[in-house]
Amino acid sequence: MRHSDTNILNSSESSSIEAAVSALRDDELVAIPTETVYGLAARASSRTAVNKIFKVKGRPANHPLILHIAKTSDLEKWAQDLSTVARTLVDHYWPGPLTIVVQRNEKVCDEITGGRNTVAIRCPDHKIATELLNRLDDAIVAPSANRFGKVSPTTAEHVAADLGDDVKIILDGGECAIGLESTIIDCTTTPPQLLRVGAITVEQIKTECLITVVSASGESRASGMLDKHYAPECEIELFNNRMQAETRRSELSQLGTTSEILDFGDDLALYARSLYARLRDADKRNIDVVIAVKPPSTGIGSAINERLKKAAR
Ligand code: AMP
Ligand code: MG
Repeated sequence: MRHSDTNILNSSESSSIEAAVSALRDDELVAIPTETVYGLAARASSRTAVNKIFKVKGRPANHPLILHIAKTSDLEKWAQDLSTVARTLVDHYWPGPLTIVVQRNEKVCDEITGGRNTVAIRCPDHKIATELLNRLDDAIVAPSANRFGKVSPTTAEHVAADLGDDVKIILDGGECAIGLESTIIDCTTTPPQLLRVGAITVEQIKTECLITVVSASGESRASGMLDKHYAPECEIELFNNRMQAETRRSELSQLGTTSEILDFGDDLALYARSLYARLRDADKRNIDVVIAVKPPSTGIGSAINERLKKAAR
């Protein structure tokens, strides 16, 4: 779809945030920057607005949405029966790239949770997102601002390219600092379960909070846990080191296949921040194969490897 670019507003101007707040109050969708990826925001108290998200994203109704709040103390407005684990995680990591799944209260509508009695909540660590939430005086739901199953957007231009005029306003806050979706921990089970790996790792939680988080068991519950997700148009092949990647590039080039290598050495933060933009760029330039050198699985490296694996299926 063609987009006009006229809906991209510079978020450093106060009037832009005011326009976004006003659109949200009118039950419109607004794309906003966060420290993880750009979110497609709807006012959480409006079923009409929440329903628009599913329509615009092409997202199945049984994929619940993450509620975003301005500050930790807003948690009690939407959740109840919080466990010690939930409180400890919130104290340590909010605001930040960690989503917790907890018992919902009656304010949370069924559309947000897909009818579950639990709700996923996060408090983003981003000046614009926080200011918008404070001015709105409501929570928002905000899945990644892309069509379902595709690569998440990490710039305002990515959002415009994907959603075009289906989103009323895109607040441009520049490139996302982290670049990968939040870690999701289900705090309603004992022990708590990891539903999606992100910048905050289970090893870190173990060390810093003395909480053991186990891998999710049972039916897949997070969209990031589907087998194929985060998928660009190009093929992705994974290699353990640069040398293997170079060899593969020569092979492909002899076959007349265009390819490029994705490799950030040990700079995991740069890898995470650049990954989605590089995949989008490869698609734009009609590259057939992206040859990714896998980062070490330490820190955010696990999340990068997880996304690469799913994109490569
Ligand atoms: P996204 O909005 O695309 O970043 O994805 C949000 C993820 O949170 C989805 O994969 C959901 O499945 C997961 N999620 C949201 N609410 C719940 C919930 N109540 N229980 C389990 N997972 C949830
Ligand atoms: Mg998403």
